Amino acid sequence: MILIDILTIFPDYFESPFGIGLIKKAIDAGLISIRLVDIRHFSASRHNQVDDCPFGGGAGMVMKPEPIFRAIRHIGRGGGYKPRVILLSPQGIRFTQDRAVQLAGLKRIAFICGRYEGVDERVSEGLVDEELSIGDYVLSGGEAAALVIIEALSRQIPGVVGNKESVSGDTFYGKFLKYPQYTRPQHYLGMSAPPVLVSGDHGKIEDWRMNQSVSRTVQRRPDLIDHGTLSESERKIVDKVNRTAGEKKRLRVLNDEKLPEGS
Ligand code: SAM
Repeated sequence: MILIDILTIFPDYFESPFGIGLIKKAIDAGLISIRLVDIRHFSASRHNQVDDCPFGGGAGMVMKPEPIFRAIRHIGRGGGYKPRVILLSPQGIRFTQDRAVQLAGLKRIAFICGRYEGVDERVSEGLVDEELSIGDYVLSGGEAAALVIIEALSRQIPGVVGNKESVSGDTFYGKFLKYPQYTRPQHYLGMSAPPVLVSGDHGKIEDWRMNQSVSRTVQRRPDLIDHGTLSESERKIVDKVNRTAGEKKRLRVLNDEKLPEGS
């Protein structure tokens, strides 16, 4: 069981996503416990103010440190474990599948969701164990980022996904992207599922899937290919895809050279 506290000024944001699908099932089954902690409840001001103007001037507002420090103190060491405190931030380390697997092994996590122009730097200095970003773009708040991370880590908690193989076969879990998938009907709008998948020959299906996984990864995410870890058969597929791509490029250049100018 993992206990996750989410510090936010918008607790209602999470109502629908935690009320459906695998996360709801995991909560109901006691595999994950999620507490929404409203940062405004920890404001000392009469109007529950949680932000203020930036020192030195500039645009927007900054989240004040005191309510966040108080909120973290309040959630305390519940269950005997100190939470790992994670600040969602576009400046944090990029969240990955590996990190999802590691976080799923923790007993407690507290996410701090920033808003406005961000969070007073002393929160990072005095409270936060790590800052995580979900990508190189800026969201209006950390809530969506917390949700992404919780979705990803919850899949790694034993029992949350019924079939273990759906997790171990996921893209990013192994070395390659997942192969393309099809379901009924076999023929649709002139497009067909590959006949091998309905052949009933499990050996051929496995080969086809491996081929597709490796080829897709070379074509779409060559940065994921770690040449040092490839098996002999994987290396052959990688070489073949690269050779075909090289040949296609060469033909394109030849065709372009043949075209009359301005065409
Ligand atoms: N002014 C900040 C900057 O340029 O670094 C951005 C603040 S952003 C508008 C408000 C909050 O959204 C941040 O404090 C953070 O909690 C969250 N956030 C925005 N983009 C994010 C990302 N890519 N990953 C994780 N959290 C993000």
